[in-house]
Amino acid sequence: MNPQDVKKKARKVLQFLKKAYPDAKCHLVFKSASELLIGSILSAQCTDKRVNMITPGLFEKYPDLRAFSCASEEELQNDVRSTGFYRNKAKAIINCSSEIIQKHKGKVPCEMEELVKLPGVGRKTANVIIGNYFRKPGIIVDTHIMRLSRRLGLTSNSDPVKIEFDLRRCIPEKDWTFFSNSLGDHGRNVCKARKPMCSKCGISHVCLYFEELYAS
Ligand code: SF4
Repeated sequence: MNPQDVKKKARKVLQFLKKAYPDAKCHLVFKSASELLIGSILSAQCTDKRVNMITPGLFEKYPDLRAFSCASEEELQNDVRSTGFYRNKAKAIINCSSEIIQKHKGKVPCEMEELVKLPGVGRKTANVIIGNYFRKPGIIVDTHIMRLSRRLGLTSNSDPVKIEFDLRRCIPEKDWTFFSNSLGDHGRNVCKARKPMCSKCGISHVCLYFEELYAS
């Protein structure tokens, strides 16, 4: 598909999302940039719902990044165990918190360039923070965005960074964060991983997966 057609398709998808999910927002519960950062690290390979179940107690026990940086790794592993991959996550949280204290005076940086240098922070987590805390445009390529953007035909790539840049080209910059949050909602509600509910989907008329399903 040529880039102009992809842009036209993206515009229609965006129009639909604005009507269907006007209030789409990040599902992680947070009160500060550091809480969103920790929640986002914990959400890797885990649902936001499950993360939200443990974060109130976690943030009470470790009220700031300094507390996380001083945590016992073994104890933190136990605290975050239910979110999966708890060994890596505990290590990332401790190292990331220490680095923010040492290099950024305890403040979560707002630039992509600085965020991705932090341990445990990739472009997805960086964009979550940029878009949902600092309110700057960010395309958040999580599992839902990967699946839906491919099904819709907005990208043919499977590498998250390539998908991010494909979406940056076809979605207006001011809508990047909204697009990510609302397409994620559509993925959770309708375009589910195993059984997409195409007959109930308001964007089936522009969807490549749907087109191919009925062409075969
Ligand atoms: S038509 Fe089906 S595959 Fe396409 S976006 Fe809708 S639910 Fe997903």
